[in-house]
Amino acid sequence: MPLSLGVCGSAGTHPGPGQACSGYLVAAGASRLLVDAGNGSLSQLQRWVDVADLDAVLLSHTHPDHCVDLYGLYYARRFHPADPAPLTVYAPAGAEAQLAALLPPDAREGFSQHLRFVPVAAGDTLVVGALTVRLHAAVHPVETLAARIIADGRVLAYSGDTHGGDDVAAAAAAADLFVCDATWLAADGPHPEGLHCTGAEAGALAEQAGARRLLVTHVNPRLDRDAMAAEAAEHTTAEVTAAEDGLWVAV
Ligand SMILES: [Zn+2]
Ligand SMILES: [Zn+2]
Repeated sequence: MPLSLGVCGSAGTHPGPGQACSGYLVAAGASRLLVDAGNGSLSQLQRWVDVADLDAVLLSHTHPDHCVDLYGLYYARRFHPADPAPLTVYAPAGAEAQLAALLPPDAREGFSQHLRFVPVAAGDTLVVGALTVRLHAAVHPVETLAARIIADGRVLAYSGDTHGGDDVAAAAAAADLFVCDATWLAADGPHPEGLHCTGAEAGALAEQAGARRLLVTHVNPRLDRDAMAAEAAEHTTAEVTAAEDGLWVAV
């Protein structure tokens, strides 16, 4: 399979009606990487892949809309008939302790046995089968990783949650597809600093990066995603579309 992206969840901050929070299946060859595991994203994920066949997970950060479906993933693998080996979860330092703290004592040991957390940071490069993943720093109140994912010479970039940032633009430099946080419409502002992009800011970031295509995502479920794409398109020459759950795109 060529480098491809499946959107398991496209809602920003909280789920919408029939819409899950951030989760993306990245596939190339036989490799399968889940990037983020927000509320409800495990549902769409399983339409594409058996949870036992995931090669790794990458968490951009530990806000609930990006990580709480790790609990479901843990149980799905723990009770899977194939008894899969522990799954590597690349995440910012402290993620395991933060997530384990919500579990009752009977579940904590298994959580750490079935999911093997590996702390990672901006500047690190990961290799997950056919995928090479370079981590960058996003602009967000907690440590948040953007990612530049390469396979077969194609480049997929993911902003994580970010309010712009030169290192996110570096992650998306000349990307074939840039998946970018576009939570709010600029027209509804002002918005808090240092949290998320507006559609306009996502478009400007894609333009700064020279990305070829822009997929706006993490849209607040109360907003019209097509209006978000239209706002972004006013600020970039990249081809702009809006993410929706179940969307599958070749990078
Ligand atoms: Zn978020
Ligand atoms: Zn966040």
